[in-house]
Amino acid sequence: MINQAGTVHLVGAGPGAPDLLTLRAARLLAEADIVFYDALVHPETLALAKRAEKVAVGKRCGKHSTQQRFINKRLVDAARKHSLVVRLKGGDPMLFGRAQEEIDALHAAGVNCEVVPGITAALAASADLKTSLTRRGVSRNVTFVTPRVGEGEDASDWKKSVCSADTTVMYMAAGQVAVVAAELIANGMAYDIPVVIVENASLPAMAATATTLGALQSAGERMPHGGPALLMIGRVFEPVQGARFAVSDRDALRGMLFA
Ligand code: SAH
Repeated sequence: MINQAGTVHLVGAGPGAPDLLTLRAARLLAEADIVFYDALVHPETLALAKRAEKVAVGKRCGKHSTQQRFINKRLVDAARKHSLVVRLKGGDPMLFGRAQEEIDALHAAGVNCEVVPGITAALAASADLKTSLTRRGVSRNVTFVTPRVGEGEDASDWKKSVCSADTTVMYMAAGQVAVVAAELIANGMAYDIPVVIVENASLPAMAATATTLGALQSAGERMPHGGPALLMIGRVFEPVQGARFAVSDRDALRGMLFA
């Protein structure tokens, strides 16, 4: 196939705060002809795409707004019409973003594709908590994991990864925290392992709740603000519990927040 198409750039929009964007991403947005963006992208980030047609293809946990295959096709079609296409994804495109499906579809259609990294939510949350995900003598590895399994996929062994990790950051798990905690405990994790739930990392509405795996088992399943949230699990979060944020009971998820 002769490739006369434009290039599709899979661009990381960062975790939420519009100024946590790479210069490369900002430049591509400014020059883009068309931008396909996710639900979690900040309006100010989108506004950088001054001359572009903007198309929402947002997916939010639990809501399947636009089918992935349809998005893939739209990217291919857009590249045949425009020279600079941006596919803007929350956080980093290569983590829990279905980037590979888009890359493969573009490749199969003979369309050029580039990827621009972004700051993933885990790293924004670590910054908000002022807590390093690794620490000498305490944590030498970090696992990024999700308990979410898509339709038709094999069951995942996410529990095994969490149980053998020093520090875990769990994506797309906020709607099922009690189940996650119960399963980890059933797999041998200690009740007193610290857990911090960080919602809206990097944004003014950031809220963090410090608790333990044991307490989480009987917790409610709703986030205080209904924003995207991460479960951060591991001994590195012990100081978060002790010092600044005193929470560790079953009411932890119902409003014990710090700014
Ligand atoms: N590619 C994205 C992740 C997409 S999966 C990244 O690298 O960050 C969507 C999940 O990311 C949400 O369910 C939530 O677990 C997490 N998430 C995204 N933005 C977040 C934020 N600002 N604060 C906390 N969690 C966030």
